[in-house]
Amino acid sequence: MFRSRTNVSQIMGEFKIEDHLFRYSVFVAKLYNYCKSLGFEPGKIMPSRAFCSDESQGYPIILISKHFGTFPFNHGLVGGVVATDRHGPHAEHGKDMLIIQASHVGYDPESKKFGVYRRICTEHDENSSSCGKIDSVLAWYESEYRFAKNNIFVEKRNNDYFLIIDNYFTNEERTEGLFLNMDLLVSDRSPVESYSTSKCFRASAEVQAMYEWIDNRKNIGKNLIPEFFYYKRNVISDIESQGHLESNLLPVMPWIVTAAAPLLAAAQINTQIEFDRTFRTIVKEKGYQGKRVLFISGIHIDISPSEDQLFPLTKFVPWAAFIQDTDGSQRTLEQNELYEQLNAQSSENPDQIDMEAAIHVMEDAQEVKVI
Ligand SMILES: [Zn+2]
Repeated sequence: MFRSRTNVSQIMGEFKIEDHLFRYSVFVAKLYNYCKSLGFEPGKIMPSRAFCSDESQGYPIILISKHFGTFPFNHGLVGGVVATDRHGPHAEHGKDMLIIQASHVGYDPESKKFGVYRRICTEHDENSSSCGKIDSVLAWYESEYRFAKNNIFVEKRNNDYFLIIDNYFTNEERTEGLFLNMDLLVSDRSPVESYSTSKCFRASAEVQAMYEWIDNRKNIGKNLIPEFFYYKRNVISDIESQGHLESNLLPVMPWIVTAAAPLLAAAQINTQIEFDRTFRTIVKEKGYQGKRVLFISGIHIDISPSEDQLFPLTKFVPWAAFIQDTDGSQRTLEQNELYEQLNAQSSENPDQIDMEAAIHVMEDAQEVKVI
């Protein structure tokens, strides 16, 4: 019906969540065993993580430390963006290389809503957005979308349908904002009437089909579907990586702001783009040449802790993986295959360390004087 779906928006639909989730403690044990099945040497694996800076991401890091017996290298920037300029140092810190990238989204089990997370260290255990960084990026786009939904009207006159569009949206001189795919919305780009702040156009057949039931005038509301609009935004890069995160999401922002759970959709697409981008940088990285490398991407669903829990009950949804062997052979696993490979592994890890005991050993060790 529509012709403007982008490749990126099509791939969004490929990311499956249902029946593809692992409880995090199970995921990390299976991942460790998967690494061993690929020839990774226990005790010589340097895991790294590219996670958001949110404190909710601490629990996965603790589990990675426990199962791999070492604290993971920090490969991440806020929002779950991979710091690809850290491949070199990572490569020097271990024999066999593991990189786990994940964007994250909160989940409230009571309301069954994505995008919220209970902050148990706040005065009243308040809920806040999660991922908060992605939420702050989305705010401007959501506000433009709200304005468009409320300021574009469909009007039926006799049996003809018209769109009354605020002049803001037809002003092509803007460098930023929400822009309409007029070819899909109207049958003729020349207005039939002009008013003080808007113009009236004859509606396209697609729009007419959506409004056969109205008898006078109504705002377009949720029928402003992603195929009908796009955004322009002068994205500024910054060292905190917001610019990078925003550039990742910009081409598919219409699909994100109209999604049932925008923060879930944004986490998925960011992970998909980061996997695609990062695997190309791993292939070119001199430090990884001749080494075993497993790069795995997915999303963290952080289930809000209840009052008696210290940590979230995080779930991992794998998206894709890249594997390199010491002879330089490489392959990529798509979501279903990756899920099956992980699921086939044992969830028992006899090599996992006792964190408390390891800390006690350090507490009891003889003092070393520094200078
Ligand atoms: Zn975050």
